[in-house]
Amino acid sequence: MSGITIALSKGRIFEETLPLLAAAGIVPAEDPEKSRKLIIATSRADVRVVIVRASDVPTYVQYGAADMGIAGKDVLLEHGGAGLYQPLDLKIARCRMCVAAPAGFDYAAAVRQGARLCIATKYITVAREHFAAKGVHVDLIKLYGSMELAPLAGLAEAIVDLVSSGATLKANNLVEVEEIMGISSRLIVNQAALKMKRELLQPVIAAIEGAIK
Ligand code: ATP
Ligand code: MG
Repeated sequence: MSGITIALSKGRIFEETLPLLAAAGIVPAEDPEKSRKLIIATSRADVRVVIVRASDVPTYVQYGAADMGIAGKDVLLEHGGAGLYQPLDLKIARCRMCVAAPAGFDYAAAVRQGARLCIATKYITVAREHFAAKGVHVDLIKLYGSMELAPLAGLAEAIVDLVSSGATLKANNLVEVEEIMGISSRLIVNQAALKMKRELLQPVIAAIEGAIK
């Protein structure tokens, strides 16, 4: 494929990416929230945007179906990063990965006692590494969304999830009991494309870098 294909997800990443792309002279011709199109032309004839699930962005870029993309650190840690060059932290879609449990659950005691802790999460890799580093034995249950429900329904004792304002936790009577890491979105580039299309990709990367707040 000639030109540049950029993989983006709808929602907050798309919104917060628009000013960064504009700095590279790239303005999508349509709003993915309004259009059903998955391939969107841009103000530059040689650049197009493909709209994919947030967790699928690294996969498209890894296999070269997209030359570059924007993905959360959460998604990149779960993907593993194979075949990806990650030149820039864009400092957008910021939040934190944390452990949350029902208000009143004695997390410190649960961790200290050495008994097994049951955790539900979409982020199995991050959760496994976090608790292994602490020497805490955990049973991990994979979920794909609505993690907050798991402790309330008796599926797990606690969850590992992304939090920004904490409003969703609060609405479900959960509290953040431990922060695991800060999260923001990264620019990712296919390693082979970076070599083959360097003259096209490098100025875009440089313009985006200059626009990071
Ligand atoms: P989907 O909704 O399609 O299942 P998703 O939940 O991963 O996928 P989004 O909710 O759009 O998709 O989140 C995309 C990225 O935005 C996440 O990977 C993360 O990096 C970041 N993000 C998620 N939740 C928050 C939040 N509460 N505040 C800020 N950034 C967030
Ligand atoms: Mg979501």
